[in-house]
Amino acid sequence: MSTSPRSGLLAQLDTQPRVRDFLARAVATGRTSHAYLFVGAPGSGKLDAAWALAQALLCDEGGCGACDACVRVARHTHPDVHLFQPESATGYLIAQVRDLLEDVALAPIRGARKVYIIDRAEQLRSNSANALLKTLEEPPAHTTFILLGTSTDVMLSTIVSRCQCVPFRMLSTDESAEAVAHATGLALARCRMAVAVAGSPARAIEFLKSAERQEARRQMLRAVDALPHADEADILLSAKDLMGAIRAPLADVKSTQQAVLERDADYLSRGALKQLEERNKRELTARERSGIMEALASVRVLLRDVLMSLEGVADGVVDEDAADIVARLAAVTTTSGVVCALDAVSDAERRIARNITPQLTIEVMLFDIRKALVCL
Ligand SMILES: [Zn+2]
Repeated sequence: MSTSPRSGLLAQLDTQPRVRDFLARAVATGRTSHAYLFVGAPGSGKLDAAWALAQALLCDEGGCGACDACVRVARHTHPDVHLFQPESATGYLIAQVRDLLEDVALAPIRGARKVYIIDRAEQLRSNSANALLKTLEEPPAHTTFILLGTSTDVMLSTIVSRCQCVPFRMLSTDESAEAVAHATGLALARCRMAVAVAGSPARAIEFLKSAERQEARRQMLRAVDALPHADEADILLSAKDLMGAIRAPLADVKSTQQAVLERDADYLSRGALKQLEERNKRELTARERSGIMEALASVRVLLRDVLMSLEGVADGVVDEDAADIVARLAAVTTTSGVVCALDAVSDAERRIARNITPQLTIEVMLFDIRKALVCL
């Protein structure tokens, strides 16, 4: 148990070697903390590391990558690992923290340990944070909290002081792309695009494995490509089709959820079952939202490439596979047009964060981009 085999997620954290070695040592010597705070810039791989640590903690071999527990954690279907993300635009809901605390009080379902990953912990504000503090300080045995945040400066000091801080170094896009290329064996250019669209190395690897997510991106690019010649009916139809493409990967999530639900139905009380169903519903909403954010990121990357092309900066181009679309758009617009179009993407991101209907958000964005690109 002293060294984890290469197949485990923790051993694969090549972009953060210090974090990897530090956590691997803690797991190997059985001296893990009950609460970690992973701190680093977006895209530095904190969430990847959190899943990796969860896997190492739940596996009898410290993260072999092959056993039932390891496979379940890697697929995000282990019933004793819970990922929490803020469910309102302004942060964590007090009800979410209450759910979490109720769950903490229950025994593990499958493993000997429970792991709670709390993403964007800076969004735990006084109400929701206070409820959590006591548990963070004295968690039940065999419970591990992993909080993720971009900076300790923007977090409540009462939370920071109760956790062991693990700093993550910032990664350049090239470093991330190289890590993805190393893991997948795919061409560097394709990996660079995937990192730009998906955000972190691990999410890029997932993106490259998902034909549906890549198809959603292509469809998004085609929709933007068609905009200069599109009329209103075209745009409405394309927004509708895009939502279909973005939702396509959710079918897999749904069937996995259903399988877990059926499998665990015998172990769980009626209340716990209901809680699981609620959580599944929220997971679907969160997945849909991240699919939309990914589609919006695809547009942003494309428009940046158009900008690069207009400015004559050929090296910076990310969407090599969409070079024809970039050239067509560059031919009909100007630098200021693209800058306005990028603002339309930012507006759309804000609308999604404020829970505005996705389809409406995409419609508005496409209309705004068309106007920006062609009204010179
Ligand atoms: Zn294992």
